[in-house]
Amino acid sequence: MVRPFVPELVYVEPRAMEYPLAKELIPKFENMGIEIRETTSHNQIRNLPGDNHFQKYRTAKSTLVVGVRKTLKFDTSKPSAEYAIPFVTGCMGHCHYCYLQTTMGDKPYIRTYVNLDEIFESADQYMKERAPEPTRFEASCTSDIVGVDHLTHSLKRAIEYFGESEHGKLRFVTKFAHVDHLLDAKHNGRTRFRFSINSDYIIKYFEPGTSRLQERIEAAVKVAEAGYPLGFIIAPIYLHEGWREGYGEMLEKLEQALPAFAKKDLTFEMIQHRFTKPAKRVIQKNYPMTKLELDESKRKWKWGRYGIGKYVYTNEEQEDIKDTIGGFIDNHFPDARIEYFT
Ligand code: SF4
Repeated sequence: MVRPFVPELVYVEPRAMEYPLAKELIPKFENMGIEIRETTSHNQIRNLPGDNHFQKYRTAKSTLVVGVRKTLKFDTSKPSAEYAIPFVTGCMGHCHYCYLQTTMGDKPYIRTYVNLDEIFESADQYMKERAPEPTRFEASCTSDIVGVDHLTHSLKRAIEYFGESEHGKLRFVTKFAHVDHLLDAKHNGRTRFRFSINSDYIIKYFEPGTSRLQERIEAAVKVAEAGYPLGFIIAPIYLHEGWREGYGEMLEKLEQALPAFAKKDLTFEMIQHRFTKPAKRVIQKNYPMTKLELDESKRKWKWGRYGIGKYVYTNEEQEDIKDTIGGFIDNHFPDARIEYFT
């Protein structure tokens, strides 16, 4: 069982101390016996403990920076929401395929932003622009926010903020089962709580440092019982030997565990495994022993964002995935909605 995350090292940006959340967090970390260092800006963070890239990378993943979010312009977040809302960047997990490895470059530490009210004000502007249409905000585009929220409770505040809003909806996804503090949040049904799930094989070989399938399912049951709309992202769908059985068992276990009422309003999102050439280089550097198959010749090349092509499964394989896993979902959860396959 993965324990709730505790950073080994905390950096604090001086400006952050002007905000109540930092004033609360820093003494708390001190009491926990965690080393606290000051930094003028997270860009100045150098000399993380470790003798080589490998060790420094691991230290960074257990380092938390308490900072201020300067850019209050939100990125778009298709297809799951209109906007990405930034509370945290980075993640303590060690999923080999994680896209954060390329987007975070050589700064894979976790940053939590303490200027929550400014972030909420910005969200408010976006909601006003679209009103009376609802606006969906995705809180896990640059992190697995649940993994750190037992320490900060930023997500809990966001859930309650959107719970009171007229046009806002919040969504996020997690691979962590540490959800207890979120169960009594006043969500008013405006937050869709999603879990990222995968076959036991993938979790075992490619998702170190995250909660296991059974733990995620147990957490999902608690979340459903707390009245949240629930969803699952099956990602990345990866064609390992025995994948049909693996995904079949995963969905069977889920069906057995979830209470009947939770199956009525359930969403699934399906995302196939993909990689880019730059991602492949970073993965092989950070996880040199990985079993992850990254052979371009077996994949289909697809035009990607910023002009960087990505390698996805062939058309036949994609059809097979949709038929097989989509079929399992239809069988086990006839009332659920598959939002997209990409
Ligand atoms: Fe990346 Fe999510 Fe794994 Fe964290 S839990 S390393 S964000 S894939």
